[in-house]
Amino acid sequence: MREVRVRFAPSPTGPLHLGGVRTALYNYLFARKSGGKFILRIEDTDQGRFVPGAEQYIIESLNWCGITFDEGVHLGGPYTPYRQSERKSLYRQYADQLVADGYAYYAFDTAEQLDQLRKEHEAKKQTFQYGPQTRQQLYNSLTIPAEKTAELLESGTPYVIRIRIPENETITVTDRIRGLVSVESSLLDDKVLFKSDGMPTYHLANVVDDYLMKISHVIRGEEWLPSAPLHVLLYRYLGWESSMPEFAHLPLLLKPDGNGKLSKRDGDRLGFPVFPLRWTDPFTSEVSSGYRESGYVPEAFINMLSLLGWHEESDKELFTMEELIDAFSIDRCSKSGAKFDPEKAKWFNHHYLSAKPVNELVKYLEELLKKEGISSASVNLERICELVRDRAVLIPDLLEQSRFFFIAPKSYDEKVVAKAWKAETPGILSGLAEVLQSVEVFEVPAIEEASKAYVADKGIGMGQLMNPFRLCLVGTSAGPGMFDIASVLGKEETLRRIQAGLNNIVI
Ligand code: GLU
Repeated sequence: MREVRVRFAPSPTGPLHLGGVRTALYNYLFARKSGGKFILRIEDTDQGRFVPGAEQYIIESLNWCGITFDEGVHLGGPYTPYRQSERKSLYRQYADQLVADGYAYYAFDTAEQLDQLRKEHEAKKQTFQYGPQTRQQLYNSLTIPAEKTAELLESGTPYVIRIRIPENETITVTDRIRGLVSVESSLLDDKVLFKSDGMPTYHLANVVDDYLMKISHVIRGEEWLPSAPLHVLLYRYLGWESSMPEFAHLPLLLKPDGNGKLSKRDGDRLGFPVFPLRWTDPFTSEVSSGYRESGYVPEAFINMLSLLGWHEESDKELFTMEELIDAFSIDRCSKSGAKFDPEKAKWFNHHYLSAKPVNELVKYLEELLKKEGISSASVNLERICELVRDRAVLIPDLLEQSRFFFIAPKSYDEKVVAKAWKAETPGILSGLAEVLQSVEVFEVPAIEEASKAYVADKGIGMGQLMNPFRLCLVGTSAGPGMFDIASVLGKEETLRRIQAGLNNIVI
């Protein structure tokens, strides 16, 4: 059996989007499940699209997700370097080999000439393709005499090397997810393999590196499916067909309404991040939000992504990374696009966040408090986290749900005042304050017992006491149980807040 070696091969043209992370994840799961190797290769041959910081962003994002590699640009390994711009010198020989074998040719047409042709075709509502139908009329080594070609090359005339797509051939790609995909060669064009700047294009560099790095499976997004027939031809023409990797093209990620591909440009426009981490565009300084900064935990982000294009036979939804490794199979990936559901992402986050050990929640809360400069010296953060954990969907909710513990209400929700504050309320609360004053051990059982006895003694309903009591301590009608709140605040602060309510709430 062939050793499993898979790669994630992003181009550093900007931040990684959800779909990119999913591709990395599926490759990772596949590698780990089969005991194979996972490689990070940076495909930066298109210097015009290079974005500073993108490579570091990609590495940091995958790191946050817990997706690890065995070899790569940041780790080294037996096939180093793993950054294509540093491998520049090794691609040329393969382009030359293709030319020598008649599978590729030199093309000298200038950008202006090609532009002109494109425009002429557009005017006739046609698309111009440099390919089997047109290349005989164009300025290339197939149409000009050999001596002239040699002369042009000699004199440094700019050129590109193009693949010579065969005429009238059916090219078949075997895809693990889609089965046999056949394409008529007449639909393909003579793609550029090698550019005038001395760099290979994506197609040549990608195939050469997959071959040299002994990649066994190419698992990538559906947007690369149209390139696959060309890649199959390159393997064939380079004499590498017997070691060609298996292909698996993953389904598209769709917008929540199912209308079209979820794209980088959707950014925050649809009300949720499309990037794992916050990204600041180095050219425009525009900031796009990230899952990490929005308060998602990586376990939730990964679990949510894992189900966008794959699911187990049972409809099981909750998976740790270990369970995913165990359960994942390419053959259970779907062909049809997967709709991204931002509500489901929150659902997963709530699940994982609320299930965290309390000391981790405390760390998150401390961080949030620090950021806002809120002192937490006198409160028991562990208890607070226990009380609010079920109400937290995103990490910042830990503070939003517990803010009143740290900061006494400065105002009182008018609607609640109108409903809960009656003429007899000040009297009831003053009485409660007296009762609480004499509670020795200010913990839930004693506070509860004293409050209940007080209510019984007064012959009033629990709500008549509890609603205004909550209003004084919290400022609204929300929050955990009142006895819990009072015990966390402590006797002094509880009494202080009752008094503040009595002083400030007027009807
Ligand atoms: N460099 C390509 C990208 O940016 C890689 C596609 C592939 O995996 O072959 O997605």
